Amino acid sequence: MKALAKVKPEVGLWAVERPVPEIGPDDVLIRVNKTGICGTDIHIWNWDEWAARTVPVGLVTGHEFAGEIVEIGRNVTDLAVGQRCSGEGHLIGRHSRQSRAGKFHLDPETRGIGVNEQGAFAQYLRLPAFNVVPLPDAIDDEIGAILDPLGNAVHTALSFDLVGEDVLITGAGPIGIMAAAVARHVGARHVVITDVNPARLELAAQVADVVPVNVATEDLREVQARLKMTQGFDVGMEMSGNQRALDQMVEALVMGGRIAMLGIPPGKSPVDWSRIVFKAITIKGVYGREIFETWYKMIAMLENGLDVRRVITHRFKAGDFEQGFEVMRSGLSGKVVLDWT
Ligand code: NAD
Repeated sequence: MKALAKVKPEVGLWAVERPVPEIGPDDVLIRVNKTGICGTDIHIWNWDEWAARTVPVGLVTGHEFAGEIVEIGRNVTDLAVGQRCSGEGHLIGRHSRQSRAGKFHLDPETRGIGVNEQGAFAQYLRLPAFNVVPLPDAIDDEIGAILDPLGNAVHTALSFDLVGEDVLITGAGPIGIMAAAVARHVGARHVVITDVNPARLELAAQVADVVPVNVATEDLREVQARLKMTQGFDVGMEMSGNQRALDQMVEALVMGGRIAMLGIPPGKSPVDWSRIVFKAITIKGVYGREIFETWYKMIAMLENGLDVRRVITHRFKAGDFEQGFEVMRSGLSGKVVLDWT
């Protein structure tokens, strides 16, 4: 089969021929139709310090996918050949206290497809049946291929009650933009999204009913005054990984405000803890998606009017993956989807 692998410990990914994976008794084999390119794939492409430390050379990468089951293991009774699906790319252990309590997303033994294990940038993917998420007809393959990052957005957005609340999202990358759409969908009052990249803010305004703010040229406090937000934002979602954005969020939050933090700062970064303490701010770190509660809620929202399709700005044939990665690396795109059919 055709696949994209990290063949050499240097910048890039390479098109390779690999055998179709053999499945075990609890697995399924999925024919991959569409895949999304994630920020993590860009780290792997760039072969930065994190990627070099984490990803084994030779690995087939990619973890955002949708496809169709073509084979099932002998113990798999609740899935059938022909079922369209996406799936959770975090492979969890079953031994930790968290796993045994059903908090699968908190399992410390989690391994990721396309990061630690063979991934989805391939014509076929082996996945434990447990991880499969069947897709209803209302969700086509290209939306199915971005459920992983949409799940990050949904998990973050549903961390705190947003109904009637004023929400600040820092970082209008694909996940921040989708989180804005979710916040709007579940009934937030004002949704303000910040970035320093005008193209990203323009895209945010096309995807969701939000107030885009370029913090490189605009004063967030003036925007708050214009919206008559005298007290500050109730909930913040940090989706940039940028230290200055977090500082700005802490300043802009109401006393007792809540922050859901998905963005990953590049290393240890200074935080004004006294400001956080005296403002009585709650910060929740968000990792991945709740398995499988986030998936249920996200699919239900998509079936009931949540529309994030416009966040997909580019589509390429898998053979043209280099163009797809170039567009993603430019910082000017939303989601980029590769077609493996
Ligand atoms: P992205 O890199 O595409 O978007 C980040 C955006 O933040 C960019 O548009 C950038 O211009 C903007 N930004 C930079 N400085 C800013 C500032 N001072 N104020 C406001 N915005 C600023 O990322 P993405 O794919 O949308 O992911 C969002 C974040 O979530 C990233 O940090 C990513 O690493 C992280 N992430 C975390 C998890 C998890 O499980 N915790 C999963 C996926 C992604």
